Amino acid sequence: MSAAIGCNQTGEVEYRMNVKLVCLACGQGNRLPGDRLGKGAKCGTCGAALVPDKPVDISLDVLEKAARVDEIPLIVDFWAAWCGPCRMMAPEFSKAALASKGKARFAKLDTEAHPKASAQYAIRGIPLLIGFRNGKEAQRQTGVMQAAQITDWATALSRA
Ligand SMILES: [Zn+2]
Repeated sequence: MSAAIGCNQTGEVEYRMNVKLVCLACGQGNRLPGDRLGKGAKCGTCGAALVPDKPVDISLDVLEKAARVDEIPLIVDFWAAWCGPCRMMAPEFSKAALASKGKARFAKLDTEAHPKASAQYAIRGIPLLIGFRNGKEAQRQTGVMQAAQITDWATALSRA
């Protein structure tokens, strides 16, 4: 069940109840009050920021768990070091992560380090963004996007 209770007048999703989030660093499930999403909450197990303002490198195991459990949207950039367009998009993705802090979490999955991701998420080309919400894939987009486009995409996902 989603912890979102509605939208305020600026269209942002408001969270008042506790929100369940998987730590993107260690995979531990955490619960935090919704009003602390943008305020430096840390993982009870490893101390990593639960809602970081920049993309976090994520493993396939942690991604699977977070995609299933998280109660705020998760946006994952599937990339590889040999992919020029992926490297071009990286700073844009970082800017969008900063702009979207508290509305969505941003993560990066290295498809070379985690080759099983290709079959699991039916990846046909990279860079690929997949947005997860309420335990399932909600949006997907292949190809380079600018920071503003990614931010809009994240906003659409958080309102979906
Ligand atoms: Zn942790």
